[in-house]
Formats: sequence, structure tokens, C-alpha cells
Amino acid sequence: MGHETAWKRELAAAFTDPIALLSALELTPAQVPGLAPIPAPLLRPERFPLLVPRGFAALMRRGDPRDPLLRQVLPLADEAEVTPGFVSDPVGDHAARRAPGLLQKYRGRALLLATGACAVHCRYCFRRHFAYGEEGAQRDRLAAALAVLENADEIEEVILSGGDPLMLDDATLAWLIEALDRLPQLKRLRLHTRLPTLLPSRITERLCATLAGSRLQPVLVAHVNHAAELGPEAQRALLELSAIGAPLLNQSVLLRGVNDAVTALAELSEALLASRVLPYYLHLLDPVSGAAHFDVPETEARALVTELRQRLPGYLVPRLVRERPGEAAKTVLL
Ligand SMILES: *Cc1c(COP(=O)(O)O)cnc(C)c1O
Ligand code: SF4
Repeated sequence: MGHETAWKRELAAAFTDPIALLSALELTPAQVPGLAPIPAPLLRPERFPLLVPRGFAALMRRGDPRDPLLRQVLPLADEAEVTPGFVSDPVGDHAARRAPGLLQKYRGRALLLATGACAVHCRYCFRRHFAYGEEGAQRDRLAAALAVLENADEIEEVILSGGDPLMLDDATLAWLIEALDRLPQLKRLRLHTRLPTLLPSRITERLCATLAGSRLQPVLVAHVNHAAELGPEAQRALLELSAIGAPLLNQSVLLRGVNDAVTALAELSEALLASRVLPYYLHLLDPVSGAAHFDVPETEARALVTELRQRLPGYLVPRLVRERPGEAAKTVLL
């Protein structure tokens, strides 16, 4: 019980006020070019306010307004800009919906939006305009998705996503995994989560036991964009997850001003390996409205990954991909 309250307490203490975050970083608003006016007149700011756990903020460099971790989470005035081609549902999630919070785009795999909550609000997130939380009470909504999965014989892998699936409390998560366990056609359970690095205290013994106790093969896909995100606590959390026999993979988004340099990408791959994580995907930014200032053009992305391939062993080079609505898989660009 103590462990479960520890991560919840940490979450409750997260920064929600940009000024407080900047002040902890020894910065004044005047030192940050393009900071969103406060209170921010952003698109629905009440739905996507600043949210940054203190442990993540502690990994940011003091006094540096261009810190790559800070840039991922700090609302900028650029978010209010309207850019042609940048829309509210860039990857066709609406069309792929099979039940509330259940998406299927690809053969054999279904993605379950386990909760709309996250421990951090990433400014480039393609789900920033969605309000999953409004689709009814959590367990009722999940039960409706489970009922659809029961009759989906072709699904071999369920991907828990969100939001962040590890934001579910231990009891709900255990209930959900037990229900998935009983679906005979399922072989694998994949988790897409930022919590091992954003809120490492969430990776408890109990959580590891729940995952290890399932008959389903667990696969964990972390979401790390920069080597500096892998502090000692994150490393501990990842090693514990690895110890239960879950292959650890990582997906990143190629982001202007965060990781759009070959050195940053190489350091990220090496830092991931030190935590037993292999790079999986490097995504081009999904063109979601409000995030155009993070965009790195495809030609530049290809050049970066080409250079990365000349520097690193093949297993440390992520696949450069983009998601195109309606395609049978992510599109591999290189
Ligand atoms: C990205 C995605 C997946 C996973 O694709 P993989 O190539 O298997 O990693 C599954 N379902 C949906 C809806 C997705 O967007
Ligand atoms: S943790 Fe994932 S779902 Fe949540 S805001 Fe960040 S990118 Fe989006």
C-alpha cells in the first residue's frame, strides 16, 4: 500500500504552473523566448495544461531555456498557430474505433486506450485534442472494449495505451490484465508507457508481479526522446521490468529542438541500451494542430538516420516511420 501511495503522492506534487517550474529551474519567464502568455490562451488550455513530475524536472539543466526536456513540456505561444495540414485527428483514430477506447488499424493487434490520463503533458502529443476521460466510467468503458475483444478471434496482441496505461491504479490494472488473460486468442500484452522514465516510482514490485503473473507474453515499449531522460531512477525501473522477462523497446518522436541532431540520437540509443532497452521506432511528428513548431521535414529526418546508421551498430538504429491514416502498417521511411 505504501508503494502505491508513493507514486500517487508524487503525481499530486507535479508542477502544473509554468512559473513555478521555471523558477525551480532558476529561470524567469522573460528568459524564455516565445513562452505562452500566462494564463495561456491556447487551444482548450483547460484540457491540456502544463503537467511535469518533479523527478522529471530534476533532470533538466538549470538556467537553460532551451533544455530538451523542458521544451517537450513547456507551453509556447507557437501552439496557438494554425498551420495548414496540421489537424486535430492526424492519424485517423476516429475512423479506427471499434468500441469506446478500442482502436484497430493493423492485423492481429488492437490498441486499448486504457485511460486518458498521463503523468506529463507532452506538447507535441497527437492525442492532445482527445478527451478519452469523457467516454464514461473507467471500468464500464473497459468492460465494453473487453466484450468486443471477446468476439475478435483474429486479435493476438492487445496494446495498452492511452493516455498512459500505467496511470491505472494497481487494482484496476490487475482486473484488466486478468480479463485479457482469459481471452484464449491473445498471446501478447504490450504496454506503451512513458511512466518508467517520467514517474519511475510507478514501477513497483506489485506492478511487476501483476505483469509477470499473466500467461500473456509482456512487451514494454517506453517513450524516451532524449538521453537526459534516463536518470538513475528510470534505469532502476527499466531494469526491474526487464527482470520479469519483458523485452524492452523504445519509441521516440523526432522533435525540432529536442533530438534533431545525430549526436543526440546516438546518445539516446546508447543510454537506452545501458537500461536494456532497444530502439524500435523513431516517428516523424504526427501533424497535430498546435505542434507544427516541433516538425522536422522528412528529407532532414532521412539524412539524420542515414548518418546514424554509419555511426552505430544496426540494432541501435531505430526504424524511421510515419503513420499514414488507412495504411496496413506504419510506413517505414528508411
Ligand atoms: C502504432 C499502432 C500499433 C502498433 O503498431 P506496431 O507496428 O505493431 O508497433 C497498433 N495499433 C495502432 C492503432 C497503432 O496506432
Ligand atoms: S505521455 Fe504519451 S499520451 Fe501522454 S501526453 Fe505524452 S505523448 Fe501524449
